[in-house]
Amino acid sequence: MTSEQHVAPGVRRVALPLPLALRSVNVYLVEGNRGWSIVDSGMHTREAEAALRAGLAEVGIGLPDLRTAFITHLHPDHLGMAGTIREAGAELLMHGPEIARAHEVWAADHRLIDATYDLFDRHGMPRDVDEGMRAAWVEMNRRVDPFEGIHPVADGEVLDLGGRALTVVWTPGHTDHHAVLFEESTGTLIAGDHVLPRITSNVGVYPGGRPDPLGDFFGALEKMKTLGVKRVLPAHGDPFDDCTGRVDEILAHHAQRLEAALAAADGTPRSTYAICRALFPVLRSPHEERFALAETLAHLRYLELRGRLREVEGRPITWRVV
Ligand SMILES: [Zn+2]
Ligand SMILES: [Zn+2]
Repeated sequence: MTSEQHVAPGVRRVALPLPLALRSVNVYLVEGNRGWSIVDSGMHTREAEAALRAGLAEVGIGLPDLRTAFITHLHPDHLGMAGTIREAGAELLMHGPEIARAHEVWAADHRLIDATYDLFDRHGMPRDVDEGMRAAWVEMNRRVDPFEGIHPVADGEVLDLGGRALTVVWTPGHTDHHAVLFEESTGTLIAGDHVLPRITSNVGVYPGGRPDPLGDFFGALEKMKTLGVKRVLPAHGDPFDDCTGRVDEILAHHAQRLEAALAAADGTPRSTYAICRALFPVLRSPHEERFALAETLAHLRYLELRGRLREVEGRPITWRVV
């Protein structure tokens, strides 16, 4: 299952399997003159742990040789095995506010999951679908190691990864405090889920989150054009070079989706869930149901904040074109 490749100067990719529709996540091994670091950690399954150990063995190291692990964001395919890597001796780093949000998302009492259930209920998700969404998310908790003791880092901070200088860049949208790493000397962007080559990152509204995640995302995409990126190392899919070209494609995709959302909201007042199903007719799992409704809400909220739509109270909440 392991594919280990040299993808940028002194950087190797290890693809780790996922038990999801998205079949793998890339973690990146960064080699400096003072040792190895890793960016992201994979979801904790037996298969992924075996693939990680095999990927490390291919470059002649083991888990205890990793000095530092930087985690781009709180999703289980990125944060999942961080605890295991820390136990082997590495220091864990993550954008400070993302650590706090991770503790909410993965809280033992599932309070954010329950709040999301209530939010989706108000937006017209059928009860059985909402129950399935909640159960699938709670189940995900088992794939995430306990992650106490992560060291917070700040937007703009320059990290020393085994003697290499990589800058933390806050890239909100996919999650509120997602962060990428940029190495100026080589033009290498370790992009997490911010800029992906074939799929677009899920951007969604969640309880207690930032109010305009899609607006955040557009700003954070524009920021990528200013860095001088020569090579993008994404968490899903193959590395690529044309960052600006891909950013423009993603922006065009969302411009189209915003028009489609506006068209779907026109006419008879409809709930967010009804609009969601017009935009996403095929949903194959409880996770996809969640991503689709959260993303539809992000598009509708974006339009509302710019005076194009109005939210109408009621059960369920509906939308009116202004
Ligand atoms: Zn993600
Ligand atoms: Zn991911």
